[in-house]
Amino acid sequence: MSIDSLPPLREVIATHGLAARKSLGQNFLLDLNLTARIARAAGDLSACDVLEVGPGPGGLTRGLLASGARRVLAIEKDKRCLPALAEIAAAWPGRLQVIEGDALQIDPLAHLTPPIRVVSNLPYNVGTELLVRWLTPPDWPPFWESLTLMFQREVAERIVAQPGSKAYGRLAILAQWRTQAQIVLRLPPEAFTPPPKVSSAVVHLTRLNAPRFPADPGVLSRVVAAGFNQRRKMLRASLRGLAPDIEDKLRAAGIAPTARAEEIGLEQFCALARILAPRRGG
Ligand code: SAM
Repeated sequence: MSIDSLPPLREVIATHGLAARKSLGQNFLLDLNLTARIARAAGDLSACDVLEVGPGPGGLTRGLLASGARRVLAIEKDKRCLPALAEIAAAWPGRLQVIEGDALQIDPLAHLTPPIRVVSNLPYNVGTELLVRWLTPPDWPPFWESLTLMFQREVAERIVAQPGSKAYGRLAILAQWRTQAQIVLRLPPEAFTPPPKVSSAVVHLTRLNAPRFPADPGVLSRVVAAGFNQRRKMLRASLRGLAPDIEDKLRAAGIAPTARAEEIGLEQFCALARILAPRRGG
């Protein structure tokens, strides 16, 4: 088997009986020009190991290998896809490793060598959970240099949202605090087989070596959770449980106690987190 002899993806799906399963979030990309574009959006892969979650029949996997990824580690839950992925591995000797299993249960680090980039057309049912995990490792910087991920468009918009917009919330703050995040591609439902109900978008997140503004991750997370859990309330009410003198602390962070979470930028949230948990000596 060589790269030229790999069959078109529609044929792969027919040969291996890969009728899409909704329970596994299966909406496949069969256009290899499109998967090549997504691979390119991930940047220069030639010196990198790539983690791909949910390769399915392997359209994006092919794009990643063709664009020069040093190695690809693909984790797939649906064992029906394994024969199709084995054909790709045979066409790119030594460059594709496939692990059958649930990406939420598998630690990929044992199989990867830095620098590492993550590129995936994620199953929608686990996409946000994986993103949050990748954004909240015990230590920063994380194991990955960048994440290039397909989401439902609404989730992609929440990741890049700015204060004052309806989409702005915990996900925006989590992502933008320690990464540079942008939407790099928008796709209509028809780009997929079968087409999902909603549009999709690819978000590219590049890690920053240090957070944009200092703050303790746990405190920042509690402040943001409390603020956005009751997003229509004024912060003096929604954050009341965090400190008895919350109004003074809000003012000290430069935030009007009558403001709502959705009006507050990252810098102010970090200032408030620092005031609520001053670092020793700082
Ligand atoms: N990458 C392929 C493409 O672009 O055509 C398939 C994308 S499809 C949206 C999501 C894939 O993730 C499916 O192949 C599905 O079987 C797989 N999947 C679903 N849940 C998973 C999990 N928990 N761990 C690993 N793979 C999973």
